[in-house]
Amino acid sequence: MSFDRTIFSEKVKSMQAYHVANSSGMIKLDAMELPYTLPEEMRAALGKILSLTSINRYPNPRSTSTIAKIKQVFSLPEACEVMLGNGSDELIQILLTAVAKSNAVVMSPVPSFVMYQQTAELLGMSFVGIDLQADFSLDENDFLQAIDKHQPAVIFLAYPNNPTGFLLDKAVVQRIVEAAPGLVVIDEAYTAYADDSAQDLLTQYQHVVLIRTLSKIGLAGIRLGYLVAQPDIVVQLNKARMPYNVNVLTQATTRFMLEQTAFLDDCVSKVLDEKAKLYEWLLACDKVTVFASQTNFLLLRVENATAVFECLRDNYRILVKNLHGYHPVLDNVLRITIGNEKENSALRHALKKILG
Ligand SMILES: *Cc1c(COP(=O)(O)O)cnc(C)c1O
Repeated sequence: MSFDRTIFSEKVKSMQAYHVANSSGMIKLDAMELPYTLPEEMRAALGKILSLTSINRYPNPRSTSTIAKIKQVFSLPEACEVMLGNGSDELIQILLTAVAKSNAVVMSPVPSFVMYQQTAELLGMSFVGIDLQADFSLDENDFLQAIDKHQPAVIFLAYPNNPTGFLLDKAVVQRIVEAAPGLVVIDEAYTAYADDSAQDLLTQYQHVVLIRTLSKIGLAGIRLGYLVAQPDIVVQLNKARMPYNVNVLTQATTRFMLEQTAFLDDCVSKVLDEKAKLYEWLLACDKVTVFASQTNFLLLRVENATAVFECLRDNYRILVKNLHGYHPVLDNVLRITIGNEKENSALRHALKKILG
């Protein structure tokens, strides 16, 4: 049987699938996951709860109890509404689906999270990326002029940014919000590791949307993201969301884990301690430039990032992310997720051997 392969859009045919490196048997420091698993009693308690979940029933389409828990734990503004996503990836997709028109523009600084551009283009929208400067800062005038010129339907600002690990200047964010004709989505995937949040802008401006995820605080496997915005925005976005997008096991796990805030906070603070240790060590390495970071990863520049990446992978079974080639400001840059004490020490050992 043959069929007409021209049914696939030109865009899809020209795309590369999101590449996930094979990591079996490796120390995995490439995807901003946390290295910690749950303690025995917590696992047993979670297992009990999951065993009592009605997997024969569809989830509550409004996810009422999960949303109530999220609102409480993260002190979200009462006046705002929350929508859940199967990871914040899906929230980006839902949001762009709701605004997709053929002449609509999506804008963000680049390099930033690749899904903004991928999803926009897949939906037939145009993406305008404004290059960050060599020190990873944003040229405010450039960005404001581009807003004026392109009138973007949506602006994405990752706060802090992935992959640079930096926070934009809050005053700049605020001026971008004031200049924006459409929605401004502030993506706070790394908020647990950052010195600042833009949550306060939600109540100051009608067109600010906040998205967050549980992935970077130790729950990447359950796929749970949440979006916060004014009710009239969430009403529209909910129309672009599949009714049962977040499954009952994920929702039950979310409610359970958000009761364990001491455990979650402890994991984040261990990561921050490990990051500080690794940062100090890298600072003292004369063949490495390490950048300050408000996330659970560190960026470093070496002389030949691809060679270091391959040697870590092939000789030491350590997987990091090679960002060389993604964007000029990332020349010879590696992104390393903070692992546990043992993993970080293996990394230091390997880097010492490789860099001499
Ligand atoms: C990891 C990440 C996401 C996606 O997180 P999921 O909830 O796991 O889909 C979104 N935005 C940024 C900036 C990220 O780094």
